[in-house]
Amino acid sequence: MPKDENFLKANNARHLWHPMAHPADSQKNPPTIITGGKGVRITDVDGHEVVDGVGGLWNVNLGYSCEPIKAAISAQLDRLPYYSIFRGTSNDCVIELSEDLKDFFAPDGLTRAFYTSGGSDSVETALRLSRQYHKIRGEAGRTKFLSLKKGYHGTHFGGASVNGNANFRTAYEPLLAGCHHIPAPYTYRNPFNESDPAKLAQLCLQALEDEIAFQGAGTIAAFIMEPVLGAGGVIPPHASFMPGVAEICRKNGILLIADEVITAFGRTGAWSGSRLWGVQPDFMCTAKAITNGYFPFGAVMIAEHVAETFEKDETGRAAIGHGYTYSGHPVGAAAAIACLAETKRLNVAENAAARGAELFTGAQALMDRYDVIGDVRGGHGLMIAIELVSDRATKAAPDKPVPAKVQATAYEAGAMVRVSGPNIILSPGLVLTSDDVQVILSALDAGLRAV
Ligand code: PMP
Repeated sequence: MPKDENFLKANNARHLWHPMAHPADSQKNPPTIITGGKGVRITDVDGHEVVDGVGGLWNVNLGYSCEPIKAAISAQLDRLPYYSIFRGTSNDCVIELSEDLKDFFAPDGLTRAFYTSGGSDSVETALRLSRQYHKIRGEAGRTKFLSLKKGYHGTHFGGASVNGNANFRTAYEPLLAGCHHIPAPYTYRNPFNESDPAKLAQLCLQALEDEIAFQGAGTIAAFIMEPVLGAGGVIPPHASFMPGVAEICRKNGILLIADEVITAFGRTGAWSGSRLWGVQPDFMCTAKAITNGYFPFGAVMIAEHVAETFEKDETGRAAIGHGYTYSGHPVGAAAAIACLAETKRLNVAENAAARGAELFTGAQALMDRYDVIGDVRGGHGLMIAIELVSDRATKAAPDKPVPAKVQATAYEAGAMVRVSGPNIILSPGLVLTSDDVQVILSALDAGLRAV
């Protein structure tokens, strides 16, 4: 394949559609074509090298040249490139991985894994198994799902139905019936006009209790949330929020699904978002960094008591009619075993906390200099959002081209950052150095100066 930029851009426009983009837009505004990656840096087709402030898509936690993962993938491809784990067969890799994951997530109370090919699959799996759990227990009426506005749970019909952002819903309605949303603990904008995080957490918890009473606890299967909301604009709740949710769920017989597709494996500075808040969920959805982004793979981790309900069932209702061709893919499992070992060896959670604090402080300092910044959110590892506005007093959204202009200028100045609505999102690899942090901050400075 020739690597001439114009040839690639013309063919890109002709032959493919991009996720999360208008098909015509990628024809009018050709994407940046990335052709190489090393450490936390990426190179485009022009040879321009930048620090990847996005970390792939919140997944390349260990950077682009993690040799042990590459070697594990390559060796597994030679040994056994595929076999299914549907009833009757398994593979040695996925068995080893399951033990590793059990050890890793033991403090979260999660002891079994169900494998998927990515985050949306993991969400779908947790939603389905939640309904089944209640059916096994003779509570077939528990079918509804509750979630947070602003939450993001992937794009399958179940995930889209619990998604809390109209952009991912409207075009695909009607969605799953019986999915209801409560306000997110988003201090910058919320229906209560409450800017105190602790008070807002209490108001949102009250809204959850009200919704449960309104729907009837006996109709609700599960509540799903991200421990720190990611794609919705990095919304870290107050420390009282997730424990409060867990308590309300427990009281009402509702399962708690922690969607940790972003937050598992160290991104928040803790090994999981649930552990960050001291909560033990019933299901945990993981994907992304489980293979450092090198192989499409995910795992839903299952709490011991939920697992026992399934395993001790004598009614036959626990037979699982769900799974993917690529569930437990041996190459993905080999990648995940190596990735988990490196994740622990490099103690990336600690680095995420330290570099995250530097990046957050630096981003907050930019707010003093640029009125176009309305809010800076972070404080838990390497997930930070800079929300842009056209007017700080009214919090009006920025003019449409502004976030993209910040991004384009920052890219020229040395860092890839991501635009999501009015937000500039920073989610670099967890192996970032302090020097890399400074590169991202000075590139952002350039981007903000340009608008
Ligand atoms: N849940 C969360 C919290 C996510 O952030 C994402 C992806 N950004 C998903 C689910 C969906 O994952 P995938 O894109 O791998 O299907």
